[in-house]
Amino acid sequence: MRYRILVTGGAGFIGSAVIRYLTNETDHEVLNIDKLTYAGNLESLLEVSANPRYTFIQADICDAEAMKQAFGEFKPTHVMHLAAESHVDRSIDGPLEFVNTNVMGTTVLLEAARAYYASLSEDAQEVFRFHHISTDEVYGDLEGPEDLFTETTPYAPSSPYSASKAASDHMVRAWYRTFGLPVVITNCSNNYGPYHFPEKLIPLVILNALEGKPLPIYGKGDQVRDWLYVEDHARALVKVATEGVLGETYNIGGHNEKQNIDVVKKICSLLDELVGYKPNSIEKFEDLITFVTDRPGHDQRYAIDATKMSNELNWQPQETFESGIRKTVEWYLANQGWCQNVQDGSYQRERLGGSQDSQGGEA
Ligand code: NAD
Repeated sequence: MRYRILVTGGAGFIGSAVIRYLTNETDHEVLNIDKLTYAGNLESLLEVSANPRYTFIQADICDAEAMKQAFGEFKPTHVMHLAAESHVDRSIDGPLEFVNTNVMGTTVLLEAARAYYASLSEDAQEVFRFHHISTDEVYGDLEGPEDLFTETTPYAPSSPYSASKAASDHMVRAWYRTFGLPVVITNCSNNYGPYHFPEKLIPLVILNALEGKPLPIYGKGDQVRDWLYVEDHARALVKVATEGVLGETYNIGGHNEKQNIDVVKKICSLLDELVGYKPNSIEKFEDLITFVTDRPGHDQRYAIDATKMSNELNWQPQETFESGIRKTVEWYLANQGWCQNVQDGSYQRERLGGSQDSQGGEA
């Protein structure tokens, strides 16, 4: 069956991977709603922008009227809600925008979905799904070295980012319990891969290293994260959106627990192998590693038990950390133009100059 999938935040890192997957690997129609904050980059969607099954609207999920109109005109069978403020450091510097987009924006979207759902025929209601995409950071810090987050781990968020995501998860569950809106929720570990905004650890390290800049590592770099290649996440998300059981939560992870310092060293060794020069007369890229004061409230370890995804939806990641990080470093080396446009801000200037209401088919 050909679905009509409304994706929010589709110009972001994970949303653009979802849209590339949907347009390249399925027959579904896609409407991308994105406000184009600093994190939204239409250059990540160039390969799908001419596809007649893809449409873009620039809008804020907090704008109730715009959401109502988008639902009414596009008539989605599914919503995949990824739009969010997503960077922990920014949430420490300015938490209110996180509450606004992540909590209020999600609630506005839920209300638009509820009104739209109520207007559907019984058959259309049978198909409709609202998929809320969230993070494992809602569970807080893991204590024991062997502990894993499961779908029933109590919420204990540490940062304004994770607290706002936790609040949005609660809203989604409330709309399921109170209003009967058909929802599914996913909580995923750290993603990495192509088109990742260079403020996040992995692209930051790659791009700083190429320029001979310091590679900043919080504290001792011993924080553990469970890394998932973004294309594996995109596949998992589409599976949950289209096959997940209503009201259920699914944890998604890569079984790739790594200390931050080991991630950075791995990138450095790949750069030693793949790059034909060394900046600033260093001997190896690792020489650029610099330890900086730890982030306040920094969680020590996150790791996901993704058994439910595997047992119930038959999903497993296809990339190991070794294969995924190599692909990622190679992608950044081969796509310096994308990186350059982000670093010098031209990805935002171009959007102001050109037509921004649509990309690809009209809404
Ligand atoms: P991102 O910051 O790269 O992208 C977010 C997108 O949302 C951007 O395109 C931005 O323009 C858009 N956006 C922000 N505010 C908006 C608003 N008010 N209205 C409309 N659009 C708006 O984020 P990401 O890394 O792609 O994460 C996507 C989702 O996945 C988020 O909900 C995040 O919490 C979740 N998540 C991320 C990770 C990760 O490792 N990156 C892991 C687990 C879950």
